[in-house]
Amino acid sequence: MARYTGAVCRLCRREGQKLFLKGERCYSDKCGIVRRSYAPGQHGQGRKKTSEYGLQLREKQKARRFYGVLEGQFAKYFDMAERKQGVTGENLLRILESRIDNVAYRCGFASSRKEARQLVRHGHFTVNGKKVNIPSYLLKAGDVIAIANKSKASEKFKAVIEANSAKPVPKWLDVDRQNSQATVVELPQREDIDLEVEEHLIVELYSK
Ligand code: SF4
Repeated sequence: MARYTGAVCRLCRREGQKLFLKGERCYSDKCGIVRRSYAPGQHGQGRKKTSEYGLQLREKQKARRFYGVLEGQFAKYFDMAERKQGVTGENLLRILESRIDNVAYRCGFASSRKEARQLVRHGHFTVNGKKVNIPSYLLKAGDVIAIANKSKASEKFKAVIEANSAKPVPKWLDVDRQNSQATVVELPQREDIDLEVEEHLIVELYSK
């Protein structure tokens, strides 16, 4: 599947906030935003004049890049969110959070969503005991995600889990590190999602 392959720190600098796309580096002073807190490119430090459309577009791009989702898939998630009951913007974020690559990252089974995506694709995870190798697979309340038995002994996984053991896990996930698995207690509420985005602007953008 097509993926953005450019310099990822540029994406954070473009959005003016950390999107945590690079694992450990994002928490260090080597972070691109820490080193250069202005937008990339020749006019990055110039005067900003943003239209209403520009603001809406930036919020959409921010959410899309945070979760590492391509344009078409993001639009599909918006359609799904619109069809659900409740607030469309919150539904959209909840769908994005429930992707297996995001859940694996949130549980500390990977250092970044990108790494989680790769691990899922390589068949290192199961859901309710069955192998799942599709990063866009959506989990629901009660699902149990686990590191596949054959992968549990891998030194790589042990190192990743160890490195991420101190990172906070959102309360909608119940992680059992000893057994390398986690249960989705419930899907997150808006206040459980740490992405600083004005999702109502995304809804306005798609509603034009
Ligand atoms: Fe973004 Fe991480 Fe790069 Fe910092 S290090 S700019 S958070 S991808």
